[in-house]
Amino acid sequence: MSTVVMHNLIGGEWLPAQTGVTFENRNPADQDDLVGVFPASGAADIDRAVAAAAQAYQDWRLVPAPRRAEILFRAAHLLTERKEQYAHAMTREMGKVLEETRGDVQEAIDMAYYMAGEGRRLFGQTTPSEMPNKFQMSVRAPIGVVGLITPWNFPMAIPSWKILPALVAGNTVVIKPAEDTPLSTVHFVQTLIDAGLPPGVVNIVMGDGPSAGEPLVLHPQVPVLSFTGSVATGTHVATLGAQHRKRVALELGGKNPIIVMHDADLDLVLNGVLWGAFGTTGQRCTATSRLIVQRDVLDELTTRLLAQVQALVVGNGLQPGVQVGPVINQQQLETISRYVAIGQAEGAELLIGGQQLREPPYDRGSFFAPTIFGGVRRTMQIAQEEIFGPVLCIIAVDDFDEAIAVANDVPYGLSASIYTRDVNRAFRAMRDLDTGIVYINAPTIGAEVHLPFGGTGATGNGHRESGTATFEVFTEWKSIYIDYSGTLQRAQID
Ligand code: NAP
Repeated sequence: MSTVVMHNLIGGEWLPAQTGVTFENRNPADQDDLVGVFPASGAADIDRAVAAAAQAYQDWRLVPAPRRAEILFRAAHLLTERKEQYAHAMTREMGKVLEETRGDVQEAIDMAYYMAGEGRRLFGQTTPSEMPNKFQMSVRAPIGVVGLITPWNFPMAIPSWKILPALVAGNTVVIKPAEDTPLSTVHFVQTLIDAGLPPGVVNIVMGDGPSAGEPLVLHPQVPVLSFTGSVATGTHVATLGAQHRKRVALELGGKNPIIVMHDADLDLVLNGVLWGAFGTTGQRCTATSRLIVQRDVLDELTTRLLAQVQALVVGNGLQPGVQVGPVINQQQLETISRYVAIGQAEGAELLIGGQQLREPPYDRGSFFAPTIFGGVRRTMQIAQEEIFGPVLCIIAVDDFDEAIAVANDVPYGLSASIYTRDVNRAFRAMRDLDTGIVYINAPTIGAEVHLPFGGTGATGNGHRESGTATFEVFTEWKSIYIDYSGTLQRAQID
């Protein structure tokens, strides 16, 4: 397979890093497969990219939003045409199975159509004045250059969630994609360029977090940062950003539960748990990592689940029939192995999996066996911390109230689900689950682009992506008063 050699995109030109250094990106299913060579950038590259974005902002902010949106519409069409090509490249780049990388590209297509529509809305408010002959309104104003830092697990969808609303609102962008997945970001932005995006409106600077990400976080001409990634890095980014009074939107991790009540449709539950826990090899912020089961159905559900997990096909995501791809990299493999050891030391029962797969055909990639722990207690480390791999913890509970209490008893609050046929219980769960996203009779994954996405607690800092909520990150409210009385009217005084 071919190897690409990529440069940064700055001011419409593809430029090597000023460091002169590059890094390699290899297929996690096959370390012999070199996907590409990319620039290992530093602060000088960020400076240049921010200057290009600041320059482009002067014109872009004045392009009417419906005209900006037309570029997004064209990009959506182009992405649809290129979906298969980009999905193949993404599976090779980061491992998840082809069906899922098609979904990743589709999410970017959906967001492009949705945000293109927003170009003709971007609603503000008008409201009556307390004075005669006075008009007032609020409008959404662009902010300037926005800095975006993205993870590898949704390498086109997440950049699209950030870039597209930022653009339609009139901002310009510098994005630092994850080192593991720069190519999918390049593909996405190339589509915008081919759709007519002017030079400098989106700039890509590649490299690792400390060298290329941090200068973007600290840059004085970048007033807004939108970050998706781990709690540790996100907290660091927010701390640095706060010192410069930046607006920092964080989308961080999850420890997402599926609750199974005794009256649930267990066939439906099984399909949901397999998809929620082992789709994307468990490497989703919304992955199901806790299965909270009412004791009445615990044995039956566990037995049936183990049989199905045993039958899951692990392998290279480009091969037909494979359901679970590789883990992203060696470091993540080590993290998962470490948590398995912790779970065993804590007294949880390893029911299946628990080890790295090393024998052929797995010997050239980073594969981990789908893993389930039984007998997990809510306070165990494996029940509290995000593992970000194909590991599911089963926690038994006596009743609904205990299930909700266990579900909420983690630092995170991204997504939660309940399976029940009792409508009253379903509504109580919708009210009482302390997460940003709740599913009834569906697993913890499956968000759509036109509702807010994000969570409570350690999952973030109160912001949301997607839907119109995202504009709270990428626009500034401006309140405008027009006095057509011809006299001085003093609010709160006359
Ligand atoms: P990560 O290690 O925090 O990395 C995220 C991004 O931050 C990468 O681009 C990384 O660059 C960059 N970075 C690292 N150190 C930095 C620094 N000092 N300054 C600025 N940027 C820095 O997270 P990850 O392992 O890639 O992603 C997995 C995490 O993302 C999980 O916790 C998952 O739950 C979360 N996630 C959340 C959502 C959501 O919407 N809530 C969605 C997807 C994933 P390099 O990697 O290139 O060094």
